[in-house]
Amino acid sequence: MQSKKLQQLPPYLFAEIDAKKKVVAAKGIDLIDLSIGDPDIPTHGHIIDALCNAARKPKNHRYPPYNGIKKFREAASEYMAHKRKVRLSSETEILTLIGSKEGIAHVPFVLADPGDVILVPSPGYPVYTAASILAGCIPYEMPLKKENKFLPDLAAIPKDVLKKARVLFINYPNNPTAATANFDFFEETVAFAHRHNLVICHDAAYIEVAYDNYQAPSIFEINGAIDVAVEFHSLSKTYNMTGWRLGFAAGNKEALAAIGKFKANIDSSATAFVQEAGAIALTGNQSCVYETCEIFKKRRDILVSALNKSGWDVTAPQATFYIWAEIPRAAKTKDSKKFATAVLEKTGVVITPGVGFGTYGEGSVRFSLTSPTDRIEEAVHRLSGLV
Ligand SMILES: *Cc1c(COP(=O)(O)O)cnc(C)c1O
Repeated sequence: MQSKKLQQLPPYLFAEIDAKKKVVAAKGIDLIDLSIGDPDIPTHGHIIDALCNAARKPKNHRYPPYNGIKKFREAASEYMAHKRKVRLSSETEILTLIGSKEGIAHVPFVLADPGDVILVPSPGYPVYTAASILAGCIPYEMPLKKENKFLPDLAAIPKDVLKKARVLFINYPNNPTAATANFDFFEETVAFAHRHNLVICHDAAYIEVAYDNYQAPSIFEINGAIDVAVEFHSLSKTYNMTGWRLGFAAGNKEALAAIGKFKANIDSSATAFVQEAGAIALTGNQSCVYETCEIFKKRRDILVSALNKSGWDVTAPQATFYIWAEIPRAAKTKDSKKFATAVLEKTGVVITPGVGFGTYGEGSVRFSLTSPTDRIEEAVHRLSGLV
């Protein structure tokens, strides 16, 4: 019954993992899930209060404007100005999204035509590739290699590929490698996009999930970025709001108008009272963000030091709640699916095989820090001496 395009999609990574989890759980093994990037910490109370108040207002029971309610777009613009020193018009340079995944998935449909190339990082967030295939475009995997600090080597993209490319996806702080990018990289990427007529789509889902005083840059801190770039922001990871479904796109107004036109034909924006609460999240007291990061940081240190003690070679990342780890030499296999399955069967700890994020993710696995700290301690205990 499925269309040819749908049949072309690889099986959804977490559906495969779920099936294996069920088999192991049925044997009575206690599972510790370190596979999914979904914070266990609840949304802060002041944001929930704002939601309850907003839900009582009858105007919020009606359709919101297609591009989002004014209050949320203004809050997003204020956030960009205050935290990122970037001035963006709340009317034309901010667009409300029903979670950033939604906006990201529209990109190949609205900024490219069937047969065009979309440049995607590998390993990378699977939505870039899946959406490209669904739009009839051709995803081209740019390898993110450890020796290049997990940054794509733009000069290595073949000329004929580049000629057909319309969009360049980047994502820093990065999922799944937890790598960060500095100003030089963003500057080079902006210059590259100008030279080759590309739209940069920068996925900034983890821009606020940072440690040790590290501040991740917005691409708009680079001169000329606004002419060639869209940045995708999400409230999910910053404020522990994955279930609320709220984000925004910021940047180039023609690109935003294109996404907005597409959206107006298929959805009617995020729920108005969720947007109103989101405005409070973005402009209210930010200490909840700091508190969340402190929790992740503690978990990061527990996991990193334990892995290093038991034969892995990992460094503590400056951002994101992931640990990206090469499968240790001593392991019987370098096949990330086989390895993750063996870890699950032996220990009940669920980790994500790197190949699920693309060809160049093979040989590594991803640990997520979004389970309670005592469960991470228990996982560490079970993993010690495994390889
Ligand atoms: C979680 C995640 C998103 C999606 O976030 P939502 O706003 O919840 O849709 C986008 N990109 C990356 C890299 C993510 O990890």
